[in-house]
Amino acid sequence: MSATNLNRGCNWGALLAALTLAIANARAESLPKGYSAIKASDHRFQTGDRVTELGGFLLPKEITANKNALLASPVRLKIETPSVVMVTSKLLSKTKATATWTWNGDASELSASVQMTGECDGFCWYEVRVKPKQPVKVRSIALEIPRTTSTARFLHTANYSWSNPSSGLPEIGGKWNGAFMPYIWLGNEDAGLAWCAESDENWNLRDPSHALTVTTRTNDVLFKATFLDHETTISNALTFRFGLQATPVKPVTFKWRANARILHDIHYESADLGTNGKCELDDIADGGAKTVVIHDSWTKYFGQMVPADTARFRNLIDACHKRGMRLLVYIGYGIARTAPELKGKHDEWSVLPLIPWDPGYKPETRGFDATCPRSGWADWLVAGADKLFTDFNLDGLYFDGTSEAWVCQNQAHGCGWKDASGNLHPNYAMLDARKLMRRMADTVHRHKPDAILDVHMSSNFTIPTLSFCDSIWNGEQFESHTSAEKFQVPLHAFRTEFMGYAQGLDAEFLCYENRPFTFDEAIALAWLHGVEVRPYPQTLVKVAPLWRAMDKFGVTKADWKPYWKEPIATADSPSVKISAWTRKRSALLFVSHLERKPQVIHINLGAKSGTVTDALTGSALAATNHFVTLDFQGMNYRLLQVRH
Ligand SMILES: [Zn+2]
Repeated sequence: MSATNLNRGCNWGALLAALTLAIANARAESLPKGYSAIKASDHRFQTGDRVTELGGFLLPKEITANKNALLASPVRLKIETPSVVMVTSKLLSKTKATATWTWNGDASELSASVQMTGECDGFCWYEVRVKPKQPVKVRSIALEIPRTTSTARFLHTANYSWSNPSSGLPEIGGKWNGAFMPYIWLGNEDAGLAWCAESDENWNLRDPSHALTVTTRTNDVLFKATFLDHETTISNALTFRFGLQATPVKPVTFKWRANARILHDIHYESADLGTNGKCELDDIADGGAKTVVIHDSWTKYFGQMVPADTARFRNLIDACHKRGMRLLVYIGYGIARTAPELKGKHDEWSVLPLIPWDPGYKPETRGFDATCPRSGWADWLVAGADKLFTDFNLDGLYFDGTSEAWVCQNQAHGCGWKDASGNLHPNYAMLDARKLMRRMADTVHRHKPDAILDVHMSSNFTIPTLSFCDSIWNGEQFESHTSAEKFQVPLHAFRTEFMGYAQGLDAEFLCYENRPFTFDEAIALAWLHGVEVRPYPQTLVKVAPLWRAMDKFGVTKADWKPYWKEPIATADSPSVKISAWTRKRSALLFVSHLERKPQVIHINLGAKSGTVTDALTGSALAATNHFVTLDFQGMNYRLLQVRH
């Protein structure tokens, strides 16, 4: 609608149409891709098939996610004084994407009020204010989340480092405690519940090492965040802020992944034709990749939002599209110290204390300090993405650490908080990281609705900052280990953090050859879980035959029978696990031998055995009395097709 049209007398029809379009646009924009409108009432919050019944303090009484009942009993805010009685609980406002509730409670000596905001990805943010009517003695204040044991098998904690505990809970003795950290997720292979907080502001603890605890009890697993652990006289109002999010946020499908097939690390040169008239992209397309990522070499200075060479960039995009592939470009978590864009901004935009990155490769244009999503860098990055997708026909973004809420106390952009004595403490700007990722996703999807948003977030699977993206790439945290030390990732740890089904994002495994896994070892570990190992141009040769065999079988139309749930075949050794896809009268078996030693294995195909072929080579295997014999030389895998 142009201004001239409106000025040509009063065209009410056109005006109404324009208004309707504007309202429709506003509505469409308010809902990020992949999510449907929320349903909300005074005592209920629903996003997709995740349903939360709200109780006292607006805390969940019941949560159902992916058909799992997550709570063993209602979540409680326990304040050890005369009990607080609810006065009002009310849904204040609701749009397609957000709803806000308030709750007020009263006791003889204090009152409490809660504001809770629920969003379409299921994220709920709480601000709980406890206000004494006169100075009052309180013994303890804690948030208690009693979980059903079956949905609290795996514990993932994150503080945006590479050393946070993440593993099966029974395997570490059924209990865990730690000082404050910003993210805790407890789940199983299908569903879970995340708790998060940006800081421990107003937490008052004699024993900070037990700020967060997880305890397996007779009938449940209790997660507890303790805000006050000793008798204290409270004279002023205290506010506690935290978030809850049930997962999975979206369904994870083999169909999406078969359509994405991401290969990492192409360069401008990948489109340069050789003497045979072919380029590297031809080999990559022949290998079955459908999406390629150009790493940070697409910009002159690290972290810029413009290509180093516009003409070559356009040529690269065209060359990818001609071969039926998408192109994603690299977005980082900082800007090179020497980049013109950072001039005068470094001190305001940087995380403090500084988190420097000084690579050996081109340090003069690559060295940077991490930026904070709470700073002006966020606006700059979103504007840069908007211009990038206006100027170029790109297909998505690859985020490297952009989803991380680094520890920060830079007051220049509002981070850090001061205690009563005036001491400065850090925070993790999770809400700002979440907002930045949402804005980046919305911006890209405005230009390209089917764009792929892929995040490298090793060791920090924090759903509130990832839910607006499609996929994650995890595994770099193991790079300091070597194959010589026989490093292993236990299966319970892999199922905790590397599968993505329970969190709701497609997951891929990262393998730097021999740091610590060989590519074959990484495939044996990851693919067994339905998780693909992302190829580089030089390792595509390992992945292409697997993709071809999976396509031939029709994995996207098959049923997935992972080893932890419904193994359809077994082996005579605990070092072998078997997952399978089944379709009609056939099964595609992924057989992984997980120990680095030679071993002859006998696979029992059960009564339903039939003809068996090696799905990678096509050669037939002898099956005697339902048994197939496989000879493994080390940690490796076989892909077998069984026809009944
Ligand atoms: Zn900050």
